[in-house]
Amino acid sequence: MATATLTKPAAKGGSFLLESPQPSDVFTPADLTDDQKLIGQTAEEFVLKEVFPFIKDLENKKAGLMATLVKKGGEVGLMGGGVPEEFGGAGLDKISTTVLTEKLSIYGGFAVTHGAHAGIGTLPIVYFGTEAQKKKYLPKLATGEWIGAYCLSEPQAGSDAQNSLTRAELNKEGTHYILNGQKMWITNGGFADVYIVFAKIDGEKFTAFIVERTFPGFKPGNEEHKMGIHGSSTTPIFLENCKVPKENLLHEIGRGHIVAFNILNAGRFTLGASCVGGSKHVLMTSSKYAKERKAFGKQIGDFGLMKEKLAEMAIQIFAVESMVYRSARNTPSRAPSPRSTAARCSILWWTKPCRSSAATDSMRIIPYAARIAIRASTASSRAPTKSIAC
Ligand SMILES: Cc1cc2nc3c(=O)[nH]c(=O)nc-3n(C[C@H](O)[C@H](O)[C@H](O)COP(=O)(O)OP(=O)(O)OC[C@H]3O[C@@H](n4cnc5c(N)ncnc54)[C@H](O)[C@@H]3O)c2cc1C
Repeated sequence: MATATLTKPAAKGGSFLLESPQPSDVFTPADLTDDQKLIGQTAEEFVLKEVFPFIKDLENKKAGLMATLVKKGGEVGLMGGGVPEEFGGAGLDKISTTVLTEKLSIYGGFAVTHGAHAGIGTLPIVYFGTEAQKKKYLPKLATGEWIGAYCLSEPQAGSDAQNSLTRAELNKEGTHYILNGQKMWITNGGFADVYIVFAKIDGEKFTAFIVERTFPGFKPGNEEHKMGIHGSSTTPIFLENCKVPKENLLHEIGRGHIVAFNILNAGRFTLGASCVGGSKHVLMTSSKYAKERKAFGKQIGDFGLMKEKLAEMAIQIFAVESMVYRSARNTPSRAPSPRSTAARCSILWWTKPCRSSAATDSMRIIPYAARIAIRASTASSRAPTKSIAC
């Protein structure tokens, strides 16, 4: 499959701002290989042919539909991009997974589901799992036979993630950890099979665990009523004396923060690529409409202010696309996210507003009836739940 070897050390901090890079050091989408383009084309075609026809049903949470589409995506290799080939994945480099993410993001509900499964739900095992854990879980996650989720947040622990009240105690026999607590806003919560759950051993040592849906004492709650991304599942998770085999402890006792934050960094980068994909779709839909719609005897796209809005969208998308792909190129394949903190921060800082502003401009170009496609494709930036928004 596609590979892109890193020939120079990854930038540290904001060092790339002060150094003098060679043009060949700066990757742009114009440098994508044929293989990488093909990956993007496959992803885009999948969403347009297999997902788009079901958007209405997905937005209405038709039972089992999203899980079926994830499995279908797995059949064409879209679910195991970050999983090494030896464990049944495609073993893609960071640029290829970035293209994949971008092209899958035309529909926000599917993009978020994919990100939670193939990204934050699967990568903790890729980066921190033992050989036995990788062998057991990765082949099924890579094909979409099992769906992954990531359970960090709790009612009182969002940004302050280590303020976790979920506890884990080793049982008397020393065979299982017994987990008790509640997780909140878990993407894929309603239908995932494998959950990365963070809990404090003896109320102190923050640690990651691999928890299967079928383990006794594990129970997803009801779906949240969100303002957007209705196609994705977001639920609480209840752990009531949930019995987790000792061998399902992920990484090291008391080192859960290393797992949690490295994976969040990967997730943030992916969300940036996702915003690029959604924004491009918004621009395409808006410019198409601006050419078709007439007012005062002209196409509305011929009015100066409409041109300005479309141009603003294109400028911003070009800037964030450049940022995302340059950073993807500077990320070693086996690292969760760009090593440069400045790059990581700037990607989410700029891509999310870009997506929101593209959506806002688009709303000014397209009237209500045509907005559904825009809404669906722009919602992959985290849409707050009703309770938060009110
Ligand atoms: C659609 C959706 C899907 C999600 N999926 C998942 C998932 O799959 N897994 C998971 O674990 N979680 C998930 N989450 C939870 C998400 O990661 C949290 O919402 C996030 O961590 C923020 O936590 P919070 O909502 O409790 O906000 P809070 O932490 O309560 O923050 C509220 C506000 O205060 C600000 N704030 C907080 N601390 C500071 C500070 N020190 N300085 C300045 N400002 C501050 C925040 O920026 C924010 O604006 C999801 C949330 C949503 C809405």
